[in-house]
Amino acid sequence: MDMLEEPPSSSATVPIDLISQNLPDLNRQPSRRSVARRQDSARPRGADAPRQPRERFPTGEETRAFRRKFFPEATTAEWNDWRWQLRNRIKSLAHLERIFQLSDDEREAVSRHTGSLPVGITPYYASLMNLADPMDALRRTHIPVGQEYVKVQGEADDPLGEDHDLAAPGLVHRYPDRVLFLTTGFCSTYCRYCTRSRMVGEAGGIYDFSTRQWDQALAYIEAHTEIRDVLLSGGDPLTIADEKLDYLLGRLRAIKHVEFIRLGSKVPTVLPMRITRKLTKMLRKYHPLWMSIHVTHPKELTPEATEAYARLADAGIPLGSQTVLLQGINDDISIMKPLMHGLLMRRVKPYYLYQCDPITGSAHFRTPVSKGLEIIEGLRGHTTGYAVPHFVIDAPGGGGKIPLLPNYLVGRDGDDVLLRNFENKVYRYGDPGGTTGAEAK
Ligand code: SF4
Repeated sequence: MDMLEEPPSSSATVPIDLISQNLPDLNRQPSRRSVARRQDSARPRGADAPRQPRERFPTGEETRAFRRKFFPEATTAEWNDWRWQLRNRIKSLAHLERIFQLSDDEREAVSRHTGSLPVGITPYYASLMNLADPMDALRRTHIPVGQEYVKVQGEADDPLGEDHDLAAPGLVHRYPDRVLFLTTGFCSTYCRYCTRSRMVGEAGGIYDFSTRQWDQALAYIEAHTEIRDVLLSGGDPLTIADEKLDYLLGRLRAIKHVEFIRLGSKVPTVLPMRITRKLTKMLRKYHPLWMSIHVTHPKELTPEATEAYARLADAGIPLGSQTVLLQGINDDISIMKPLMHGLLMRRVKPYYLYQCDPITGSAHFRTPVSKGLEIIEGLRGHTTGYAVPHFVIDAPGGGGKIPLLPNYLVGRDGDDVLLRNFENKVYRYGDPGGTTGAEAK
């Protein structure tokens, strides 16, 4: 079920981005007529009246051709409207068939799908995919295949054990001074390797993402003075309407012991037109506010995404990237290096490279751990240090992120530590009286 367009009737299961039961003045989507009225009354009168900044986004050539072919009725204004993009997402087999040349495997997998992690691709993001090639990198991350239904040993629906670390519904308190706040189950696109595949795209069970849940989570944070860092995630928090996100950030900022707020989002990459000037103006009220942007492949670094990242950076939001290492998609230095360089050029610090979590049906995405180490080794020393992310495994069962590094400590010789550099040359570093390296093989 698509939650944006078909909200369930019970408020207990309505996603927070659609209905805010307790928030004054934020209830319900306004009717078309009231929007028109408001726009009319806000319209500048006279030549000297200040003009509203227009939401212009540059458009890549491939995307323009895609739009002309598959959405010829869409105006430029509609195409650049994030709500239009969400309303026109590609979700059904019939819609996929109209755009992609599906393989039998894809067709069968899409037909079989029920429950959470539905198919959902914004028209903009679809425009970056190869419509004829099922092995296209971005396409593989968003159109299901039969392997998604194969569970292998060690996989689990909740491999990180988040459901067991819930301090309140939707609030994971694992580390002493910080919490993960799951704000919504809605995403603009659904990644087939999603760690939260059990709960995104279909609210249910302990996650209903109602304002009642938000309030419970906020009450917990208020009561726990040791919490200094809140990460808003989901689902994707940037799919929440501006007013509601404003409300949530305002409530968090009002808590004195919350020093640091972070947002984790894929939206700037897959729905860049969501990064409106109105949004960035609102976000900048809540500094220090940081953002982790989910990116996968250099193909995503389009003029549109570049503009979105620039708007966020210009709003003073420090940007870091998160990339999941995916077999046959980005598990090669020839892909990862331009991605990291491209991010740096767009003022995004490559932050985390994740080993893919063992979620149910993800074996076809996972690489050997050695692949991640190989990529880090291919970056470290070979390019700008800022371009080298931390390679981490989020330990199954709730152990948290564990960093992995290629082995640069190769041994010890008396008072010297023996170190290997990026060219495989061994150097000595004087370490009198130490023991570091004595155990190295
Ligand atoms: S955007 Fe994030 S939360 Fe949503 S499906 Fe992708 S990985 Fe999961």
